[in-house]
Amino acid sequence: MSVVRFESRIHLIELTLRTPFRLSRGTSVTRRNVVFELAADGEIGRGEAAPIPRYRESAESAATALAEMADRLDDFHDFAEAGVRLARPGQRAAQAAFDGALHDLAGRRLGVPVRELLGLAKRPLAPTSWTIGLDPIPDALAKVAESGRFEVLKLKMGADGDMELLRAIRDSTKQTIRVDANEGWTFDGALARLPELARLGVEFVEQPLPAAQLDDTRELRKRSPLPFVADESVHDAADIPKLAGAFDGINLKLAKCGGIAPAREAIAVARAHGLKILLGCMIESSLGIAAALSLAPLVDWLDLDGHLLIADDPFHGLGFRDGRLIPSDRPGLGVEPAS
Ligand code: MG
Repeated sequence: MSVVRFESRIHLIELTLRTPFRLSRGTSVTRRNVVFELAADGEIGRGEAAPIPRYRESAESAATALAEMADRLDDFHDFAEAGVRLARPGQRAAQAAFDGALHDLAGRRLGVPVRELLGLAKRPLAPTSWTIGLDPIPDALAKVAESGRFEVLKLKMGADGDMELLRAIRDSTKQTIRVDANEGWTFDGALARLPELARLGVEFVEQPLPAAQLDDTRELRKRSPLPFVADESVHDAADIPKLAGAFDGINLKLAKCGGIAPAREAIAVARAHGLKILLGCMIESSLGIAAALSLAPLVDWLDLDGHLLIADDPFHGLGFRDGRLIPSDRPGLGVEPAS
């Protein structure tokens, strides 16, 4: 491929949540993400960074990293690896935005969806879960009552009173329920909860213990009637081998691993270790979700509701029907700015 001239732009965006989002770590009302644009030959590729405060990322640090990466982008050779090659240390969300923009641009230049660039067929996807935060019980039940279009709920747990919340929700719906403790339980607290979680028909438990307690998690899993899925314990492919035996699956997020190219590597390593894959997301617009969705044919479970949790999605192009996301068939990531 001949040398291509690029122009890049970086925008900070503020996303407002439809309702405040409560986790065991705290509550958020807005999210500040970054959109990276890469223009060449009349096409614009875009990717989104959803910085993760737990990993000391911010919109500002992501924007700085993206500017540095864009300065170093010299050609379009091996676009899928450019994000890995130019990544700034500790800035995975920025890397994911860069990787997303390169994939979007490549698809647009070739006139094909990113899914096809990756050699993946369009096929029926798993239902996406709908997240219910650690809310007071009446608020949570109100959200569940409005969630009928989703087959699967993901309940945030990991704090006192979470079993009462789960029981109330279980009594009010037949939807599949998976739970995410977000590192919020102790070993004994998890051990006490697990039998009842199983009795209530919970599908799996995400990150029951803090990431640092891997040995405890391995011990807990031996006594658990339910599968465990790693989230805070896993960023990318390099983290996966040590998780085998402690977890049954991983929650893979582009913002954690650095985009589509590193995610494909992580999927291959997870499969080699017999782990299932949940494809997850941060609070992000349809742009970030579209990048993750391009990998959906490769995974077991989907948790891609980030764009549905915000009131002011700045991108559009994804569909939704009967609890399932419908990818765009347009070139690239298939989403466009809303205005
Ligand atoms: Mg999680």
